[in-house]
Amino acid sequence: MRVWVFSNSGQASTTAAHALSKKLKAAGFTVNPARPDVVITVGGDGTLLSAFHRYNAALDKIRFVGVHTGHLGFYTDWRDFEIDDLVEALKNDHGEKIGYPLLDIKVTYMDDTTGHYVALNESTLKRATSTMKADMYVKDNFFESFRGDGLCVCTPTGSTAYSKSNGGAVLHPRLRALQVTEIASINNRVYRTLSAPMIIAPDEWVILRPEDGVNYVMTIDQFNMSDRPIKEVRYKIADEQIYFARYKHMHFWDRVEDAFIGAKH
Ligand code: NAD
Repeated sequence: MRVWVFSNSGQASTTAAHALSKKLKAAGFTVNPARPDVVITVGGDGTLLSAFHRYNAALDKIRFVGVHTGHLGFYTDWRDFEIDDLVEALKNDHGEKIGYPLLDIKVTYMDDTTGHYVALNESTLKRATSTMKADMYVKDNFFESFRGDGLCVCTPTGSTAYSKSNGGAVLHPRLRALQVTEIASINNRVYRTLSAPMIIAPDEWVILRPEDGVNYVMTIDQFNMSDRPIKEVRYKIADEQIYFARYKHMHFWDRVEDAFIGAKH
């Protein structure tokens, strides 16, 4: 099995990643960044997001494992003091995997060129310095004229990130659905938006058409794009999934409780 250890640059992560690589090599694994079967990230959820984008052209061939150097994260099942147990789990690997939905993003720019992207958490379309005015369509049917800071479209696993800060619901990651949340919408006698999170079915898609496509910032997970005027952004559930090598299972709602409430500690 080919394994790669992908670390952030923090001291605790690089130390843990170094120790893990050494133990993996001693256990007979090929540790190499080219065509890995398993990518182990060492850091936090942000490190897993970076590894996902580094390897997003080969998602069907890779399983991810997250090791956290702090508290448990949403994409990280292991802690840095458990690397011996992780190496043992890899030695007994039977191809265990669990797949989660991703967000497919197709952008049409003003010059009619297109860009195709995939997000693990979410994508937002925002305007930083003035009101975003965008028409929103669901399945090609006009839905609303949005006025406000922006809109966020997230995956189920991304629902605990930016979307939650916008008042979105936490979705169980086994659901194949997208969620649209508003970022500071304007609602008065003139402008009206739904003013509630929307859950979009797997066979539906959402289109945003900015009134004039300039000065927009589009985010895709940790990335920002603001250099090209946008005509239209189309969001749907991606054909591909992200796969995790899940050697141990933590109940999703226990993870949510641990991250946001912490009452058991
Ligand atoms: P980062 O690594 O500092 O991440 C920001 C925070 O989001 C961290 O605490 C991280 O643990 C948490 N996070 C990431 N994915 C998560 C998930 N699926 N569920 C729960 N928490 C999660 O910064 P980054 O590397 O730039 O991360 C980008 C992410 O930051 C974006 O995908 C977005 O979800 C999040 N973000 C949140 C806000 C907000 O809540 N207002 C604003 C911008 C970005």
